[in-house]
Amino acid sequence: MRNKVQPDEHARTQTQPEQPSARPDADLMRVDAPQASGPRVHTVRLLDSPGATLTVTCPDWCESDHSEDETQGASLEGFAHRGTAKALHVGRADGDHEDVLLIEITQYPFSRGTRRPMAVLCPSSEHAEEHLDVEDVYALARQARAYADALDELGVTLDDARRTARLEAGR
Ligand SMILES: [Zn+2]
Repeated sequence: MRNKVQPDEHARTQTQPEQPSARPDADLMRVDAPQASGPRVHTVRLLDSPGATLTVTCPDWCESDHSEDETQGASLEGFAHRGTAKALHVGRADGDHEDVLLIEITQYPFSRGTRRPMAVLCPSSEHAEEHLDVEDVYALARQARAYADALDELGVTLDDARRTARLEAGR
């Protein structure tokens, strides 16, 4: 049985033009992301002030099309701009994957609390979200790089360990 990719097949795979969906974070990008590049203005029905509407212009980084805000309405405080979520995809044994370290920029521009854009982190599905400052985001990036380096080392150690185990089994 053949279980290796033949060179010609491999070459064909390599020369295929890269599809946008081939990006690792493609499935995290909101499918309703606006396509137009100009200023995006939305009119939102305010749930807390019957009859009133709110006209907002999205910042450049906002990837929300605010369709729910426009159709369902939103409270002034609850209205939020959201950037593209990024996550670490971890493959599971069932072939599916779990996203950990989900992070996205969020801004509640009419909040009574923080109105500045903030990074919202969901470490895993079992953890509540955390709000990160700019330095926290960079600190997380350093930890992720250190983790990636540790994974590389662990891979080498595992490879060596298996080689050694094979040699010992063959004796
Ligand atoms: Zn927005």
